[in-house]
Amino acid sequence: MLWVTARTMTEKIIGHGTWYDKTALEVVERERKLGRSLDLIRTEMGFGASGIPHVGNVSDAVRSYAVTVALQAQGLGSELIAFCDDKDGLRKVPAGFPRSLKKFLGFPVTSIPDPFKCHKSFGEHSSLLLLEAFDKCGVKYTFMSAADVYRRGLLNNEIKTILSNAKRVGEIIKEMVGQEKFEEALPYFAVCSNCGRIYTTKALEYLPKEDKVLYSCDGMEIKGQWFKGCGHKGEADYTKGEGKLVWKVEFAARWKALDIRYEAYGKDIADSVRVNDRLCREILMWEPPFHSRYELFLAKGGKRFSKSAGTVFTAQEWFRYGSPQSLNLLMLKRFVGTRIVSILDVPAYMNEFDELEDIHYGKKPVADKREFSKLSGLYKYCWWLTPPAKPGTHVPFNLLAYLGKVAPKDGETQYILEKLREYGYLKEQEELTPRLQERVQYALNWNHDFAEIKETKKELSDAERAAVQELAQILHADLDADQVQTAVFNTARKHNIPPGQFFRTLYMILLGTPAGPRLGPYVMAMGRQNVVNALERALGK
Ligand SMILES: [Zn+2]
Ligand SMILES: [Zn+2]
Repeated sequence: MLWVTARTMTEKIIGHGTWYDKTALEVVERERKLGRSLDLIRTEMGFGASGIPHVGNVSDAVRSYAVTVALQAQGLGSELIAFCDDKDGLRKVPAGFPRSLKKFLGFPVTSIPDPFKCHKSFGEHSSLLLLEAFDKCGVKYTFMSAADVYRRGLLNNEIKTILSNAKRVGEIIKEMVGQEKFEEALPYFAVCSNCGRIYTTKALEYLPKEDKVLYSCDGMEIKGQWFKGCGHKGEADYTKGEGKLVWKVEFAARWKALDIRYEAYGKDIADSVRVNDRLCREILMWEPPFHSRYELFLAKGGKRFSKSAGTVFTAQEWFRYGSPQSLNLLMLKRFVGTRIVSILDVPAYMNEFDELEDIHYGKKPVADKREFSKLSGLYKYCWWLTPPAKPGTHVPFNLLAYLGKVAPKDGETQYILEKLREYGYLKEQEELTPRLQERVQYALNWNHDFAEIKETKKELSDAERAAVQELAQILHADLDADQVQTAVFNTARKHNIPPGQFFRTLYMILLGTPAGPRLGPYVMAMGRQNVVNALERALGK
């Protein structure tokens, strides 16, 4: 009978059926085994404040918050700490920032002036844009700034323990990642009191009675470039935040001091997490948090998102074309596996979110109970478990974009409203809901910024493939709207496809809906070449 129990157990749906519910349960079970208090389970995400607030940082916040929400759903107290690494030095002038920042390389980002003059510092400029995006996504967090945490002395005990055991710390770092530097230097970066930089100093001696570290500003190599020190020799009081722990130990100190029980990490910092885990156990005598490792987002073309790459897009850009829930969907949909994303994916995620909404409200049936639970759960997490009482009106993104294109300028909303009534998306007297109004704006922004049609993927029969291919060929010629309309009919007949079916196929590809406006005028409005490109992409060319 044992197997029956095991089977029942594995088939039991945990919480809302998502990966996040499962992870939350694992966190709790682990904490129970460790015998630690379950009164408040803190999750953490860290983010840099030295560049463009790109969408990868937002994904950290959204995913960690999902675990917090899952813990809360299991009846436990949980909060997400959003920890801003604003005590770090600037290592590189990020893309989109003036080159004049070069003179501040090596300075803590909170002591660099805001080049755009809208915030107190460069660090604050970067971090506040990110926090704004977290807010918009509905992420609730407790904000902590590294500069502030060090200044208030929240890590004092951990710093003391680490500095007292610096020799062992250095050995462990060398053993685990081969870095020899900390066999000689203390794992602490003092801010040079003479030149103001942080990475140029070398911490030489620990004075436990005075809570100080002696350093000399010798210079340091960062990313292949040598930063000359000013030669100053001084002392830093770590209880006043006159420096910071190096990365190889700082996580560990934070985890213990802030009582963190869950932290996800990207594979780019896997080594650092490994070292910190061990130091946390062996030096700080504290069991590190439960980790999940995720793959990083890639920009189209395979380049990893990083703060200085030119291909990044920010959450703010996404919100120009898509809802916060569609961005949450992008982040929450899959946790592992590399994802290639581009800002041009917004329409697809908007449409996919609508589909999830239909599934959740039973408008689109899903036979498998487990699959339903997973998809409905994902939908609910995009709303942080408080979805609206009823589904919205779903108009495919491409259709709105098209209507926006052909609408008379200044009368766009009225025109779109009438067309949506005509197409049956709205009833006779029905007005645009606020959610629909937002969508119209997204589509108008899209039209303003892009010419692309984001086609919908559709399975095609051999005859349909051949017909679509031929039509794309025909559209290369300079046709008018009526000629396009006729060409669609003729192509369908030639390939023995009922014209009605062929139109539906084309509508599905181009608009994401089985019916739509007359194709001839549509092709003219969207641009023949854009339509040809979309059709060719649909064929996998
Ligand atoms: Zn600013
Ligand atoms: Zn100096």
